[in-house]
Amino acid sequence: MRTLVYGLGESGAAATRALAERGEKVVVADDRDDERLRSILKDLGVQGHLRAGPEVLDCADRVVASPGVRPEHPVLRAAEERGLPIISEVALGLELIGSGVRVAAVTGTNGKTTVVDMLRRMLEVSSVPHVVAGNSWRDLTGCAAEARGAGLLVLEVSSFQLHYLESPGFEVAALLNVRPDHLNWHESFEEYVDDKLRIFDGQRAGDLALVSSRDPVGRSALEGLEAETIIVGERDTAVREDRLLLRGSRLADVADLHFAGTHNYENALFAAAAAQRFGAELGNIKEALFGYESGPHRMRVAAEVAGVTYVDDSKATNPAAVVAALDSLDVPVVLILGGSEKYTDFSELLPALGTCSAVVCQGEAGPRIAAYLEDEGWQDLVHRATDLEKAVDRAGDLAGPGDVVLLSPGCASFDQFPGYAERGDAFIRFARQVAGHRGAVGR
Ligand code: ADP
Repeated sequence: MRTLVYGLGESGAAATRALAERGEKVVVADDRDDERLRSILKDLGVQGHLRAGPEVLDCADRVVASPGVRPEHPVLRAAEERGLPIISEVALGLELIGSGVRVAAVTGTNGKTTVVDMLRRMLEVSSVPHVVAGNSWRDLTGCAAEARGAGLLVLEVSSFQLHYLESPGFEVAALLNVRPDHLNWHESFEEYVDDKLRIFDGQRAGDLALVSSRDPVGRSALEGLEAETIIVGERDTAVREDRLLLRGSRLADVADLHFAGTHNYENALFAAAAAQRFGAELGNIKEALFGYESGPHRMRVAAEVAGVTYVDDSKATNPAAVVAALDSLDVPVVLILGGSEKYTDFSELLPALGTCSAVVCQGEAGPRIAAYLEDEGWQDLVHRATDLEKAVDRAGDLAGPGDVVLLSPGCASFDQFPGYAERGDAFIRFARQVAGHRGAVGR
């Protein structure tokens, strides 16, 4: 079997290494050609083709497609026409792991990393051996042996990784929510939904499927599933009177937690239901939750300047995440939106704008979002700034004591930054600069 790894990103390199280590025939290719790729290729020490088109398929029996390569890429289209199997790096990782390892898989438009992070802490406190991999964690192909050793894999999966994954049959499959996003990768919202729903493919009686009561896509998936199902937010796994209940047992009071937001309480219940399945006891799950704080760039206080709190939610890269952020604040908000353009529909943001005293639209997508909000009658709120630095400055002018300046951009960051983390770090710096200008102390 000759495998072509197409797309020389991090996961492509990990897949190549894993196959080469097993002595399998592997060829790598990419449609780009630059110094960085050449050096990656040299390090990998396998046959490689840069600026490669469909002709590279002549040397392959199957293709591992990197998540950065869209399904309509000419090479993937040609592979389909030739009837070559196409799999994702995650599918290859699962193949390398083989059977006998229990898997909890988490997907959704928003909250994947948070749920996986909460779950791993619950398992850690409970001393349940496990390995965490996928999407924003380690590449699965890089830790197949470790996962076999641990016997339990916690896997974060994106829609890109699910697209080329067939009937995985996960013991626990959690679909947190499905909202419009990544429509620059997927052909349509319908295709995005179909890919997300693959998380439940191959589940059998005795497995566990988790969905949210607030998510119509998840609810619709339950019909026809053989697995046990929990609808988080309904019946005995829900937040009732500011208390988190897991299968009817009291897990935590909201007042005792160090993170906020209904969406995060829901995330905690998803994680707790999965942890319990793998033997974590209620007391340990509680302990993990009491010690949990939101991850970097997810609703974190960046600075406090003259009574104004600057909150960094740079990880909010779609409108649904912005809505979750606004819903978790009950003070006037100066919201900073915008970033790189994915042509996302911002209509779901409109009902949540009531808490905003101003919205500063910035970056590549800023003008489109500003014009859209004005068309929808929110012209009194809308301000424009060319980039994030100017937007923070403008927001500082617009905010008064007691207000929050919230960076929850609803867009990816690539117009100005290499990623959301760098954007969040820049926001923190800019907020502190505002403190400097105004002679106040930032923290
Ligand atoms: P992902 O890994 O799916 O991108 P993260 O946990 O990194 O998700 O969170 C991404 C953004 O979405 C953050 O801004 C966070 O505040 C927000 N978020 C987290 N969980 C949810 C949820 N269940 N629903 C809506 N938004 C959420």
